[in-house]
Amino acid sequence: MLGKEIFNKHRVRELKSGELKREGPVIYWMSRDQRVADNWALIYAKLKANELDVPLMVVFTLANSFPAANLRHYDFMLKGLAEVEKRLVDERISFNLLCGEPAEKLVEFSERIKASIIVSDFDPISVKRNWKMQLNQRIIIPHHEVDAHNVIPCWYLSPKLEFGAYTLRPKVKKHLSSFLTDFTDVNLHKKLEHTSHLTNWHEALAWLNPSSEVKPLKKIVAGEQAAWNTLNNFIDSKLSGYSTRRNDPTLDGQSNLSPYLHFGQISAQRVAIEVLKAPAPETDKQAFLEELIVRRELSDNYCYYNPAYSSFAGFPDWAKESHRIHRFDVREYLYTLNEFEVAHTHDPLWNAAQLQLVNTGKMHGYMRMYWAKKILEWTTCPEEAMRFAIYLNDKYSLDGRDPNGYSGIAWSIGGVHDRPWPEKPIFGKIRYMSLDGCKRKFDVDRYIKMNIG
Ligand SMILES: Cc1cc2nc3c(=O)[nH]c(=O)nc-3n(C[C@H](O)[C@H](O)[C@H](O)COP(=O)(O)OP(=O)(O)OC[C@H]3O[C@@H](n4cnc5c(N)ncnc54)[C@H](O)[C@@H]3O)c2cc1C
Repeated sequence: MLGKEIFNKHRVRELKSGELKREGPVIYWMSRDQRVADNWALIYAKLKANELDVPLMVVFTLANSFPAANLRHYDFMLKGLAEVEKRLVDERISFNLLCGEPAEKLVEFSERIKASIIVSDFDPISVKRNWKMQLNQRIIIPHHEVDAHNVIPCWYLSPKLEFGAYTLRPKVKKHLSSFLTDFTDVNLHKKLEHTSHLTNWHEALAWLNPSSEVKPLKKIVAGEQAAWNTLNNFIDSKLSGYSTRRNDPTLDGQSNLSPYLHFGQISAQRVAIEVLKAPAPETDKQAFLEELIVRRELSDNYCYYNPAYSSFAGFPDWAKESHRIHRFDVREYLYTLNEFEVAHTHDPLWNAAQLQLVNTGKMHGYMRMYWAKKILEWTTCPEEAMRFAIYLNDKYSLDGRDPNGYSGIAWSIGGVHDRPWPEKPIFGKIRYMSLDGCKRKFDVDRYIKMNIG
């Protein structure tokens, strides 16, 4: 039996039911949560292996068809996975990299080792959900899914699409104390006798053969240890003052944890636990937890309950209607995707934001809003604006291809999680942002100099 004190049963659900027979190993199909520490899916898989008295095998499937992934993303991800493998081997747990179509490879592998059960981690993104559907059609063993990414499991926090942070926040408040508990590690009973081989990560990258147009980032170190260092640096030197400094794009006032959270190299729950323990002002801690828990989990809610999360069809009705009315408003400036991509607009502030994204792999959070809203203003229609913004964000941002990106872009262009604002040309009732507004908030010239030189 699973110890109630270490594992909240609401964190797991059956994607494919079936009798749990003691045959071969338990498979943990690691995907979104690429870490060994503080990983509820790994903990659950260990508990299952102990319950059945069988070994545990961790599997990662590498698909070379993953949308918008390029060398920048794969470099970061594979370096993180190499660390995962080392840590697992230290714990005498086997790690297996399978290259090819995930469902197909996983079916082959699970049949070969006569697996008892597959455990996977939750991801609301459609490509991952499709993989799981394909897998479930072809396996006869049970498949259990664990939400190891959210502090409160997405399906448990809310059974429906939320309107905004104001409707999700009370639910977070209600359930937080039941889920924001510390992690307890589980001692696996059946360990590997010896490790047969370690993955050749260079070969894996060569097999992927990703587009190398977007270069890897030298300044951002990948992996669990680097994620911890980033968290500690944030707590030591940036958490005090976070609520006032985080919205100034000329300061390094944010945590910079988003790439690590995106690739699951650190657990959001662990981040929250450490932040709560820190000797920082309560207002700063609460401002940070609002972003880390409420806003981040709202994004998962949006992508999970709204299959149209990356398009115009996902917008709320009031925003669709407002866009219909303003669809043919005259645009003073219109740019092609290429002009946006190479930062050739008339606005040096927008160009600076785009260059920050391209060169550093991360645009400051405040600038992301301005950047996306101007794409709406300078394209022919909101559909095109969504397409351009998602393309650029997913291509260059190390934390791209994430529910936070889809919901942030849909917030900026389609009023998702926002409310109607006084009407303006082109934007209609979508909240407007202006260059003058930015000038009142921060030193725009300094930001431009920092990113254009
Ligand atoms: C147009 C647009 C595009 C965005 N694209 C992405 C993206 O691709 N990937 C991504 O992770 N975030 C995205 N965001 C959300 C947010 O800007 C980033 O999460 C944040 O700037 C990341 O930096 P940080 O980790 O230093 O943030 P911090 O301020 O230190 O926040 C800590 C964590 O809280 C979460 N968080 C912070 N702000 C938000 C938010 N507004 N919505 C949801 N979660 C939030 C993130 O997980 C973040 O890592 C986007 C926002 C907008 C408006």
